[in-house]
Amino acid sequence: MGHNISHRKQEEIERSRRVAELTSYLVPGWRIDATHTRIVPVETVLGAHHRGQLVLLRCRRTDCRRRVEIDLRSAVQAGFGDRPIAWLVQSLRCQHWNGCQLEEASCTYPRGVPLVAYLQHDDVLVAITCAHCRTRWLLPPRRIIAGLKAAGRGDGASGILEMGTKIRGPCRRCHRSGFEAEVIWPKRP
Ligand SMILES: [Zn+2]
Ligand SMILES: [Zn+2]
Repeated sequence: MGHNISHRKQEEIERSRRVAELTSYLVPGWRIDATHTRIVPVETVLGAHHRGQLVLLRCRRTDCRRRVEIDLRSAVQAGFGDRPIAWLVQSLRCQHWNGCQLEEASCTYPRGVPLVAYLQHDDVLVAITCAHCRTRWLLPPRRIIAGLKAAGRGDGASGILEMGTKIRGPCRRCHRSGFEAEVIWPKRP
């Protein structure tokens, strides 16, 4: 009995340690999921706005073909931040006599996927390559986030495409500055 209690206590300590670690990486637009193990996107208009996402819609009716770039900021300012994106899509439908077929065509990150998004995948690495001598370093996303925060140049919200300008260097080998970043997914067995 006593053993079980201490085991449960142990798990509880482990869980709160994990939650505290995840919380330190949180940025607006992201939350810790119900299992307390992953950081996931907040699936609302406000969440998408905070993440800096670009949501494009397209009507599939051949005689409409309307293209809509959702103005997330206006929707938030109008008080619809807590609605799901699907609600906005509904509200933007046209008056086509046969019904509108407006749907999400793409949802992208113009500044690249935020580093915090990679924390939910174990074993993902970011390759930082010197643009001059091509020396390559492989780092876990959390290490890069910690480095950006320490340097005051970014955090988990920083996009992978921004890394080239956010990481200043100089390169330890050729002592020049300028880097490229690329995400390395673990190989499937
Ligand atoms: Zn339409
Ligand atoms: Zn170099």
